[in-house]
Amino acid sequence: MRYPYLFLDCDGTLFDFDQSERNAIKFLSGQIGFDYEKGMPIYHQVNAQCWAELEQGLMDQEQLRVERFRRFLPVVGCKAEPEKANEIYGDALAKEGIPYPFTKPLLTRLRALGHKLYITTNGIPATQWGRYHASGIIPYVDGIFISGELGYSKPDLRYFEAVLGKLGNPDRSLCAIVGDSLTSDIQGGRNAHIHTIWYNPGHKRSELPDDQLDDLTKLPLHI
Ligand SMILES: [Mg+2]
Repeated sequence: MRYPYLFLDCDGTLFDFDQSERNAIKFLSGQIGFDYEKGMPIYHQVNAQCWAELEQGLMDQEQLRVERFRRFLPVVGCKAEPEKANEIYGDALAKEGIPYPFTKPLLTRLRALGHKLYITTNGIPATQWGRYHASGIIPYVDGIFISGELGYSKPDLRYFEAVLGKLGNPDRSLCAIVGDSLTSDIQGGRNAHIHTIWYNPGHKRSELPDDQLDDLTKLPLHI
């Protein structure tokens, strides 16, 4: 075993976040009145842009939560307050934790092989904890590190320093990060000098990661 400490991104890696997001936006559309079919792709784009700005340090999480709706609602002609929309959306999303079908068997297998498993996620604590409880994932991992609790987000080196510090500062050559995002997971792993494994089911191209997989059930062969 080369990497006893595995840092696992959650959304888009272990969890089907797109489905969770669609469910929560659909609920919100019914509550405050906008066309879900038209609005969903727009929200997806606006939200991704806001998270990209957060990763670049241009806004913090508190700002992001409301800002995405401040940008989105006028585009779909909805006059609801962005603060209210965020509250309804956040409550709905917190009930939506949807692991991929392979996730729990994979985590069980990795643990049986002796790996320590830590979820490393950029997210809002109340939302993420709600989703982890709803999904039943908590007993399958050894720890969960949410950026909103640590005060820094991936790919910031300080996020990884905080995580490593809480684990007693294991040698970084024993750690690997697995995630679907080049900008947060893979860049973050590089910043922290830990091994990077890109979950790349869409077969995109990048030289940034050390290793990549299109099927996470093959992960035990790579670590
Ligand atoms: Mg992800």
